[in-house]
Amino acid sequence: MIKEVAFKWIDTNRERIIEISDKIWEYAELGLMEFKSSKLLADVLEEHGFEVKRGVAGMPTAFIASWGKGKPVIGIMGEYDALPGLSQKKVPWKEPLIPGAPGHGCGHNIHGTSGMATAIAVKQAMEECGIRGMIKFFGCPAEENFNGKVYMVREGCFKDVDAVLSHHPSSMNAVTLKSSLALNSAKFHFYGKAAHAAASPEEGRSALDAVELMNIGVNYMREHIVQDARIHYVIEKGGTQPNIVPDYARSWYYIRAPERDQVEHIYEWVLDIAKGAALMTRTELKIEFMGGLYNLVPNRTIAELIVKNMREIGLPKYSEEELKFSREIAKTIPRETKINLLKKSKRPGWERLVDKLIDDEIPDPWGEGDVMPASTDVADVSWQAPTVEFSVATWVLGTPGHSWQATAQSAAGIAHRSLVYAAKVMAATALDLLTSKDILRRAKEEHKKRLRGRKYKSPIPPELKPPLDAWKK
Ligand SMILES: [Zn+2]
Repeated sequence: MIKEVAFKWIDTNRERIIEISDKIWEYAELGLMEFKSSKLLADVLEEHGFEVKRGVAGMPTAFIASWGKGKPVIGIMGEYDALPGLSQKKVPWKEPLIPGAPGHGCGHNIHGTSGMATAIAVKQAMEECGIRGMIKFFGCPAEENFNGKVYMVREGCFKDVDAVLSHHPSSMNAVTLKSSLALNSAKFHFYGKAAHAAASPEEGRSALDAVELMNIGVNYMREHIVQDARIHYVIEKGGTQPNIVPDYARSWYYIRAPERDQVEHIYEWVLDIAKGAALMTRTELKIEFMGGLYNLVPNRTIAELIVKNMREIGLPKYSEEELKFSREIAKTIPRETKINLLKKSKRPGWERLVDKLIDDEIPDPWGEGDVMPASTDVADVSWQAPTVEFSVATWVLGTPGHSWQATAQSAAGIAHRSLVYAAKVMAATALDLLTSKDILRRAKEEHKKRLRGRKYKSPIPPELKPPLDAWKK
């Protein structure tokens, strides 16, 4: 059987796969700085006969590894960036490995490694069983902050793919049909004129006034935009001390809404408000566009296929030692936090999970018509081809994402088992898509239907480059 060949490769190489994931966990490199992590994954793929193109889309840590030829082309995505300040030892209490250093609080060490293992296992099966088509691994940097995939999409990296899969660690087994929020991120620089704020205020023009008036304008606008929109801002610079009229001030805005065109409409309005604030205060305005994202297009055909494979393969079993560590971690998570997280997932029957340690169910895909209150660069890929990112239980139920608990668990026993399980599920699904023309056709038809003729236009302008020196600032 074709899938057995892929599973056998994963089982035989289990220790090596886990070792790679743990190594990336240790590296814990920030977005666009994932030099060691991306090299490790790319090298292993190369060793296994993949043709590797490094440094794609202007990002040294982005790469594409391809094997095979002809159609269909199945893409597997892998992320490997860590989060600032979330360094944590593999212990069930809060203790950083290196105080203040980054850590894998979103489990992207598993994200990247499960994808790598999938790609090699699929290649093995394709080779042994003579399956036509291509398997492509997309090494995607900076998911957490700089939206690496948006640059890769703009570069045309996903142009020839027929379907894309990826696995994101979580506390739940989840293949949802939820969408995500589209987003624009921009900074507003206001330039005024400094003066003694008591002795000669008439000589000054306050850039801070402009920032404040812009915020007021935006807050009045809120009443007249779609209910699900989210607008949040910070004042990054507001002056130096009260007796100097601030000659420079800066705010940073995120504008989110369920659909890309809604974001664009609101963003245009915000730009007008910013211009108005500059006019009112006689200051100069400079707008710095930081980045944009689309909303996620779900795909039921592939989601159902993933669930079917999850059930056929069966959830992992855990050792007593693994469960002991998990119980210790669970003790650090307040019951309220757990209930809140479960409730917010809107998973049918979530109440059953309240008293469980680890998710032991494989639910049907859920969430059609729902929008996750978050944004992701997977969304931009989902406009290119049918794309599904699913989760298998990597952490105990109730674990908040981006937490020390998530970092600690991402290199422990349950995570290792989830990594191997996710790779098998993804390999089985990729092989179904490679070998069944009917499934792929249905997935594509559904994709087309969901796009309703809408065309993807990169949310970032052609001149915007990945911020490679962001961490040096
Ligand atoms: Zn993540």
